[in-house]
Amino acid sequence: MKIDLHVHTTVSSPCSLIDPERLIERAREAGLDAVCVTEHDEIKGAEVTRELGLKQGFPVFRGVEVFTDMGDMLVYGLYEDAPGWKVPFERLLERCREAGAAIVPAHSCRVTGELERIHGEERVAWLLDRVTALETHNGGCTPQGNAAAQDLARRFGLPGTGGSDAHHEFQVGRCYTVFEDDIESEVDLVAALRGGRYEGVYMWEPVDR
Ligand SMILES: [Zn+2]
Ligand SMILES: [Zn+2]
Repeated sequence: MKIDLHVHTTVSSPCSLIDPERLIERAREAGLDAVCVTEHDEIKGAEVTRELGLKQGFPVFRGVEVFTDMGDMLVYGLYEDAPGWKVPFERLLERCREAGAAIVPAHSCRVTGELERIHGEERVAWLLDRVTALETHNGGCTPQGNAAAQDLARRFGLPGTGGSDAHHEFQVGRCYTVFEDDIESEVDLVAALRGGRYEGVYMWEPVDR
C-alpha cells in the first residue's frame, strides 16, 4: 500500500495552499492508496480532511506535526493538538506513551548532520531510542539530506518512512511510504509503523548532481 504520511492543508497550516478537496483529488491522481494529514501542531485540518475522505470513499488518516525542542516530530495515533509550541520532547513522549502514539522525526537531516551538531551525539542516540521510525524520504529535502537521514536510520536500526511534506498541490505524493501490511484504519497504521515492514520511496528517482 502506498501512503503519503506527511501532508499539509489550508485548514490548519497557513503555510499550505492545498485545500482538503484538492488534496484528495491529487492523492487519487498520484496513485496513492491513502494519505495522512499532519498539520503543524493542530489536529483540525486532519479531522476535516478525514470527514471529507469518508464521504468520498478515500482513506484519510489523522496525524500531527509537533514542533519540539528537538525539531519537528510526526505523530501518528494522537488525535489532538500538540501539547504546546516548541514543547520539550520529553513532554510529547509522555503524552504519546499514554495515548499509544508513534513518533517519527520529520526531515531530521534537512541540513546534513544538524541533529547531532545541535543536540550532541548522546542526546540524539537517546532520542532515536525512543522513536518508532525516521522520515528518510521527505519531499522537501534534498537527495543529500534524505541520504543522510537514511544513513542515520541504518546506524540506529530504524525503519524509514516517506512523506511529501506537500504544501502545494503538485507536491502531493512526491515521496510516500510503501507498506507490506494492509492498512484500513488509523489503528492499523500505528500498528504497521511499529511492525517495521515498510520503506520510504520517491515518486521518481532524485536527480543527483
Ligand atoms: Zn508548513
Ligand atoms: Zn511538514
